[in-house]
Amino acid sequence: MIKINENYLKLKSSYLFSDIAKKVAAFQEQNKDREVIKLGIGDVTMPLPDSCIEAFHKAVDEMKSAATFKGYGPEQGYAFLREAIAENDFKTRGVNISAGEIFVSDGSKCDTGNIQELFSNDIKIAIPDPVYPVYVDTNVMAGRTGISENGRYGKLVYLESTEKNNFVPAPPAGDVDLIYLCFPNNPTGATATKEELAAWVKYAKEKKALILFDAAYVSFIRDENLPQSIYEIEGADEVAIEFRSFSKNAGFTGTRCAFTVVPDKVAAYDSEGNAHKLKDLWNRRHTTKFNGVSYPVQKAAEAVYSQKGAKEVRALTDFYLENAKIIKTEMTKNGYTCFGGENAPYIWIKSDLGSWEFFDMLLNKAGVVCTPGAGFGKCGEGYVRISAFNSRENVIKAMEKISRL
Ligand code: PLP
Repeated sequence: MIKINENYLKLKSSYLFSDIAKKVAAFQEQNKDREVIKLGIGDVTMPLPDSCIEAFHKAVDEMKSAATFKGYGPEQGYAFLREAIAENDFKTRGVNISAGEIFVSDGSKCDTGNIQELFSNDIKIAIPDPVYPVYVDTNVMAGRTGISENGRYGKLVYLESTEKNNFVPAPPAGDVDLIYLCFPNNPTGATATKEELAAWVKYAKEKKALILFDAAYVSFIRDENLPQSIYEIEGADEVAIEFRSFSKNAGFTGTRCAFTVVPDKVAAYDSEGNAHKLKDLWNRRHTTKFNGVSYPVQKAAEAVYSQKGAKEVRALTDFYLENAKIIKTEMTKNGYTCFGGENAPYIWIKSDLGSWEFFDMLLNKAGVVCTPGAGFGKCGEGYVRISAFNSRENVIKAMEKISRL
């Protein structure tokens, strides 16, 4: 008899975005003449930059001639892209990450979800609350979390991210082995300072723990004092893996390209206490289960680092940041307390209502869709997330509708 992995039964049954979609569909069914503006899901709305499209086309054309055709590429990514990443994302920030420590993939969702395969099942995991749900759910599937009671899995350590700590949790008092951090944060839009990250690096070194640092939204950082990579903190290259994506900077959400940095020095330990390079383990996993991102997509991603591409990416992220500014300004004028939205494309909005009531109110009265904070964890209750990924016209219209309430 074929049996299931029963850990899947421990997943919380409903999925946030499908619940939202159901509510929106029901509203539209009952209000056929009313317009609905979606400021919920974090997908980009602007097309790929011209320089990416040009490189993409050119690479596709290379596929039609035997002389330039590409079959399987290196699973870790082509050297041209890995070198461009090392040079532009790290060397320019004074960070010494080499091309050999970079693994190109088809998304940070897959990488942040798959990385847990490298670790033992009896490790203690710290996860922020609220949080991007992939970190929790992939550990539930692997059987590391126990069951969920009152919205919390028994074996996880929750790092509460609240107004009190500016949505940046400090290291816990006790021991944990694996720590997920995400800055700029989804959903709160919070950013972490060098000092705050340094406290985590110090903790990880003391405890022989590992930090998984998700920097999917790094391109929205405008404050020069904020670190862009965890490797700007001394010693982080011994205790941290960093995830980056082309999804939110260059609009690759549908094109798919990302990368993970596993520095040479990062180690994890076997049951006898012997250290093993995580880079070697990830390389083994990656080459066994993944066959590389397509050549044209990697060429399109490389174009992000050309002079023209960099300017286009800056303009794209500036555009969304201007949307964020409009949302934050208008919602603040409307009497709401707002967080994030300055070095991040998300605005985290506090309300006296529960987050689903707040969601229902905005949908039913203004026809605006947001994301209820409670869907990201217990500490998200009382908040909603509004996303800046939309057209200017829709953002302005949505704010006008909410202001009229
Ligand atoms: N990490 C965070 C924090 C995200 O919010 C998202 C997408 O919304 C991702 C990773 C996924 O990125 P990708 O499109 O590269 O899979």
